[in-house]
Amino acid sequence: AAKEIRTYKIASIPGDGIGPEVVNVTIDVLKSLQDILGTYKLDFTELDWGTARYKKTGKYMPADGLDTLKTFDAGLFGAVGAPDVPDHISLWELLLAMRGPLQLYANVRPVKNFPNVPSLLKDVQDGDIDWVLVRENSEGEYCGQGGRTHRGTPWEIATEVSVFTHVGVERIMRFAFEIARSRPRKLLTVVTKSNAMRHGMVLWDEVAAEVAKDFPDVKWDKMLVDAMTVRMAAKPKSLDTIVGTNLHMDILSDLAAALAGSIGIAASSNLDPTRKNPSIFEPVHGSAFDITGKGVANPVATLWCASEMLAWIGEKEAAAILLQAVEDICSQGICTPDLGGNVGTIEFGQAVVQAIEKTV
Ligand code: ATP
Ligand code: MG
Repeated sequence: AAKEIRTYKIASIPGDGIGPEVVNVTIDVLKSLQDILGTYKLDFTELDWGTARYKKTGKYMPADGLDTLKTFDAGLFGAVGAPDVPDHISLWELLLAMRGPLQLYANVRPVKNFPNVPSLLKDVQDGDIDWVLVRENSEGEYCGQGGRTHRGTPWEIATEVSVFTHVGVERIMRFAFEIARSRPRKLLTVVTKSNAMRHGMVLWDEVAAEVAKDFPDVKWDKMLVDAMTVRMAAKPKSLDTIVGTNLHMDILSDLAAALAGSIGIAASSNLDPTRKNPSIFEPVHGSAFDITGKGVANPVATLWCASEMLAWIGEKEAAAILLQAVEDICSQGICTPDLGGNVGTIEFGQAVVQAIEKTV
């Protein structure tokens, strides 16, 4: 009898700038991969959410956008933001408009230095950087609370309030401890700034100590975020899984990606660990208008996202094959200019498909 083919509904949201370039190549690779394996199928629907739509309609996504998203098994997102729209508008109208309401509270960002791919760090050996950064994605510094008074006067005041809830901190902490436990080194570093920020950050410290009791097999420590930047650069091997707030991990994950090679390789998964809502997978980098249209955008971050997405929906074998192919191709020196190579976005995708064909 013919085997049943598992089917998943995937929303693709290419967005702005290099978003469409990296997402289109990734979808091509995903289609080839599924044809080669023949055990599952991704059914893509493209959504036109982004700055072009905003300029026409005044909205980055339609009013029923979240309901639309909920009909999918997962979303693959490119980038949002354009030079002529203030970033806080595009970010809040689209990205944060999805993360909060869908309760995609865990943002997972794996970072590795692939063999032979130059790191920013001089002494890094292949594999020295092998981290998973876990970013709290639903509250904290990006909760949007605050406001401005006395506008236009020298007495103007702007407040930007961070809100940390016990529930919110505990769920991300538990999630991070689980990830640390699932990895060979079982090592977690909790990043805070509890010397200077004496409410929310102290809550983080307390919750970490509390949750740690349920994970006696995980070795964990605490780091202040300033010292953490130094440790990432100076002692990359001492780190494995890292958890922190929305703002801190936003910053540290750009640093992590750059240390490992390029901002163009860092993937991020916006997960709803309860699986009530579809999770959304997007590269860490932005719309990068300086290289848009040149055909040189590095698609590794988005391909890595695609691999994370496959793993999340249950296609673990396909996920592993895809990531291995990407890693192998980069390690052969076939990579985009940001990693020191000379192939374009599309050529890179084709090389990955060839590598997959050889392994399967
Ligand atoms: P945003 O405001 O959305 O973060 P941005 O343009 O400020 O966008 P990025 O888009 O992350 O920031 O780009 C920062 C730098 O990294 C740019 O110089 C860009 O060219 C480079 N860059 C980003 N993504 C890639 C990529 N996929 N491949 C190659 N270079 C990239
Ligand atoms: Mg940026």
